[in-house]
Amino acid sequence: MYDGHVHTPYCPHGSSASFIDYVDALRRQGFQGATFCEHAPLPHAFVDPTPEQDSGMSLAQLPHYLEDLQQIKKEYEHHFTINIGLEVDFIEGYEEETKELLDEYGPKLDDAILSVHFVKTKDHYHCIDFSEQAFQLFYEQAGSVERGVRRYYETVTHSIHANLGRYKPTRIGHPSLVRKFQRDFALPNDEAWLLQVLHQIKAYNYAIDTNGAGTIKPKCLEPYPPTFILNEATKQRIPLVYGSDAHHPTGIAQGYDTLRTFPLSSPSLY
Ligand SMILES: [Zn+2]
Ligand SMILES: [Zn+2]
Repeated sequence: MYDGHVHTPYCPHGSSASFIDYVDALRRQGFQGATFCEHAPLPHAFVDPTPEQDSGMSLAQLPHYLEDLQQIKKEYEHHFTINIGLEVDFIEGYEEETKELLDEYGPKLDDAILSVHFVKTKDHYHCIDFSEQAFQLFYEQAGSVERGVRRYYETVTHSIHANLGRYKPTRIGHPSLVRKFQRDFALPNDEAWLLQVLHQIKAYNYAIDTNGAGTIKPKCLEPYPPTFILNEATKQRIPLVYGSDAHHPTGIAQGYDTLRTFPLSSPSLY
């Protein structure tokens, strides 16, 4: 049992629970290893559209984050596998800055996830999973819900194709995040777009962050991606790495009961 997506005390919008609190929760739930995957610093010139501008850790904190993890990894080495990771944002138009960050810090990482949280419409970036209000503003600016959802999947596809250098993460984060508020909005049928994303993931030999966080979100109530896509991914033998996406130790193992029926694996490391 491996959890490839755990947040940490370095998350500016998470909790201050310690690394040890997370490891205790993971071990209590029967996990043998995990990747700590904090939100990487956002590109310097990018203006975080969230109210508190707290989507990623600051660049100044990154060396401390890595040092803390190196230490805790060593402390636990005979009891629990810890891999050092980052959840890196793919932001259209900031590929070069993202590559520079990965070139510099990639050698210190064991593992990483590439996620889309920010989607560009015209000249604005929207954090599409921040709130229902943010999602509504996003699709209004996109022209319609359908255009917004399509824009999201286009951005995920661009993330798969992007040249982010040799340390580019090869696991795509929660690739149906646009469905987070699906019970409150009449979303278009996105099956074909999801299947295209799957096709690209397969073509690039990437893996899927098989993410349980949506299962406890009251407007979502399904994993990212949903099980009908995971069935297809299984048929295509795309690696599925479970991720709780826990931002607090109580989130460890969320969605695992639904996802354990799929052939989950540990990540392939750098
Ligand atoms: Zn987060
Ligand atoms: Zn994420």
